[in-house]
Amino acid sequence: MAGRNFLLVPGPTNTPDRILRAMHVAMEDHRSSDFPSLATPVLEDLKKIFKTTKGQAYIFPSSGTGAWEASLSNTLSPGDRVLAARFGQFSYLWIDMAQRLGLKVDILETEWGEGAPIERLHEALAADRAHEIKAVLFTHNETATGVTSDVGGMRKALDDARHPALLMVDGVSSIGSIDFRMDEWGVDCAVTGSQKGLMLPAGLGIVAVSPKAAALYESAKLPRCYFDFADMRKANATGYFPYTPALSLLYGLRESLAMIFEEGLENIFARHHRLAEGARAAVKGWGLQLCAKEPRWYSDTVSAVMVPAGVNAAEVIDIAYRRYNLALGAGLARMSGKLFRIGHLGDLNELMLLGGLAGAEMAMRDAGIKVTPGSGVAAAEESWRGTAKPLPKRDLPPRAPDAQPAAPAAKEKATAGAAR
Ligand SMILES: *Cc1c(COP(=O)(O)O)cnc(C)c1O
Repeated sequence: MAGRNFLLVPGPTNTPDRILRAMHVAMEDHRSSDFPSLATPVLEDLKKIFKTTKGQAYIFPSSGTGAWEASLSNTLSPGDRVLAARFGQFSYLWIDMAQRLGLKVDILETEWGEGAPIERLHEALAADRAHEIKAVLFTHNETATGVTSDVGGMRKALDDARHPALLMVDGVSSIGSIDFRMDEWGVDCAVTGSQKGLMLPAGLGIVAVSPKAAALYESAKLPRCYFDFADMRKANATGYFPYTPALSLLYGLRESLAMIFEEGLENIFARHHRLAEGARAAVKGWGLQLCAKEPRWYSDTVSAVMVPAGVNAAEVIDIAYRRYNLALGAGLARMSGKLFRIGHLGDLNELMLLGGLAGAEMAMRDAGIKVTPGSGVAAAEESWRGTAKPLPKRDLPPRAPDAQPAAPAAKEKATAGAAR
């Protein structure tokens, strides 16, 4: 099909050409004395994405799921109790992993579409006087339902209960796109992956670890090998990895970080908010509902759109894909067929998202949903018009010095002058 595929799933996200070019490198020796000049600055710069100076960032060749496992297995022991709310497929899967690793999970069942129930989490912690709960697993942005929860509020709940449990946060679809403050919020393990806000292909599982969590390594008895923090820390200290690193992705990550710092984290958060507001205006224009139940939980990286009863959302998604070259996210698990998701994170601007909204509108009408043609697109346009940040005026750099042959002669004269 001619033209670009409109990739509007909430991960993997669009990889900018700049990053694709940066990854197009010949393989090199990851034991060479040159390698640390790639790895060390990337590991250092990565911390800024988490807003941590105290923590340490680790990069595993895996997806985000591997970083979940690293967080649990390096800090906890078999039979340890952990606390988690279950309100979407990603919180569901992290809980499932914890159970399969041999942890006891106190699960707070929460309606899909709601955020993490901070008050109930606080109550559970306050009731645990013996401090048997060793960690809280917190899904910052539940990608399955388009719900963002309050990490700062969770920290306050832990502090108010004077509870020492670790705060582990899944930030796979938030970090680098929605404000995240590891140090300020006292997050102990912050998990992300390469294929969402970082705009890279999948293949890196990333976790930032607080000194408090790192100190538990010795006493934590869950088995671990590939995801061992100590092996990684020892190798990283000299700029290497304990096994073959994903070299191309590290070059890509270096470019991604450069792009993020050029735009500025706060500007990126603002852009994501703006784009999300447009997407939400479109959903309202269609006369449909978001899965997220209240505005305080609206996600700035993904909108999950409920389709009317009697329509299969999977059909909308397939029509969008087959007829309009548009990829929308599916409803997961119990939301299968009930909703489609629009990912609005990463390398994205208004007109790219408008294309996706137009495609979704056409696909919905094709599938028999009675939305008014143009209603969502018009609402998004009106939400953005006039408030777009204008591009800075381009200033072409001067031509390369080697295009000016006069330079060597001038230098000779200067040297001659000095000798006199
Ligand atoms: C994408 C995602 C993950 C990780 O999934 P992988 O496919 O293993 O990278 C975890 N949590 C959330 C909230 C996600 O959005």
